[in-house]
Amino acid sequence: MSAPQFDVIVVGAGIVGLAHALAAARRGLKVALFERTNPAVGASIRNFGQVWPVGKTGALFQRAIKSREIWLEASRGADFFCLESGSLHLAYHDDEMAVLHELAAAVPEVREFGQLLTPAQVAEKSAAVKIDGLKGALWSSTELNVDPRQAIRAIPGWLEKAYGVELHFGTLVTGISLPTIETTQGSFQAEQVFVCSGADFETLYPRHYAESGLTRCKLQMLRTRPQPTGWALGPNLCAGLSLYQYQNTFGHLPSFPAFKRRIESEMPFYVEYGIHLLVSQTRLGEVTIGDSHEYGMTFDPFDRADINQAILDYLHTFAHLPTFEIAETWHGIYPLVKGKRELILHPEPGVTIVNGLGGSGMTLSFGLAEEVLSN
Ligand SMILES: Cc1cc2nc3c(=O)[nH]c(=O)nc-3n(C[C@H](O)[C@H](O)[C@H](O)COP(=O)(O)OP(=O)(O)OC[C@H]3O[C@@H](n4cnc5c(N)ncnc54)[C@H](O)[C@@H]3O)c2cc1C
Repeated sequence: MSAPQFDVIVVGAGIVGLAHALAAARRGLKVALFERTNPAVGASIRNFGQVWPVGKTGALFQRAIKSREIWLEASRGADFFCLESGSLHLAYHDDEMAVLHELAAAVPEVREFGQLLTPAQVAEKSAAVKIDGLKGALWSSTELNVDPRQAIRAIPGWLEKAYGVELHFGTLVTGISLPTIETTQGSFQAEQVFVCSGADFETLYPRHYAESGLTRCKLQMLRTRPQPTGWALGPNLCAGLSLYQYQNTFGHLPSFPAFKRRIESEMPFYVEYGIHLLVSQTRLGEVTIGDSHEYGMTFDPFDRADINQAILDYLHTFAHLPTFEIAETWHGIYPLVKGKRELILHPEPGVTIVNGLGGSGMTLSFGLAEEVLSN
């Protein structure tokens, strides 16, 4: 029997693979999607589900906005929760407020979609924010909030139903030599393959991965029990430590060095483990809280209680939640290439590796896939 034939095969059903399957199928191509596990359990279901364009500029901001548009469309098509939540960067120190003022002055996209708020204006947007000691905040309207556990599991069914994508979950792709793709379910043929294998650098093209500069980041996360019915977090929240964590966005601003010196002298444990806080709420009312950043190729598989405690301690400095009771903790691992926004390789004609979106895969993948498929 001859091997089933496709125009495009996508390896990996994380957000990067799903985005490439969608972009290919929308172009009328016959697509099959292969995922090792059933369902996918990689970085894409372990994240906050925040689509976070604020702070990006130029073409990258446009890519994030394109992704945002596709997320909204996908949420309608696949029927999953997608809240146009916006976000607040909260400032409790004058140096943090100075950095936010400078960002708003320097970045046209922040001025167009954002606004600096007084504490009273923040109180109107979120019942969760501690107003005592608050200097102000940067509001941005562009952020979305999805529940990744729901969305990443709903999108494949939509791809199958609306676009005829053939799904092969529980199927490892073991080798590619076009036009043949070898899998644990037999051989398939395709003209083009997109390898979106996330933190697996060893199964396909290991030599290309080894030479690529890709590394990994481990992040610890927590989730509360559902908050009482009717209580809403409002916008996604972050605070001063996020300005430190996202030095690509804030590091060039004139007030940043003084702010950085204070954080490094007052909060060395937070600096050492890359701890800052993002806070969002799921459709079931739970509040998702994280995270830390440890870099390397292999990690201790055990999560550290002191990191989780530091995350909670910092949360208490800026948020009131009806319940802080933690229902779940976990970690996720994402691939990144330091100094690059993504990694695109062509290990052989017809094969494209798309990887290394770091902490922005949910924000950028749909837009990036549109660009990759248009080239
Ligand atoms: C804790 C955490 C929080 C984050 N928060 C956010 C956020 O709020 N917003 C944001 O924009 N980004 C966030 N990110 C980043 C984002 O999650 C990642 O950039 C993104 O999920 C990477 O997607 P991926 O498809 O490359 O990887 P994955 O989701 O890991 O998917 C790769 C898939 O490929 C499969 N696979 C690998 N090899 C094979 C093979 N040979 N055959 C078959 N299948 C294979 C794997 O099983 C896996 O399911 C966060 C990441 C983490 C870890």
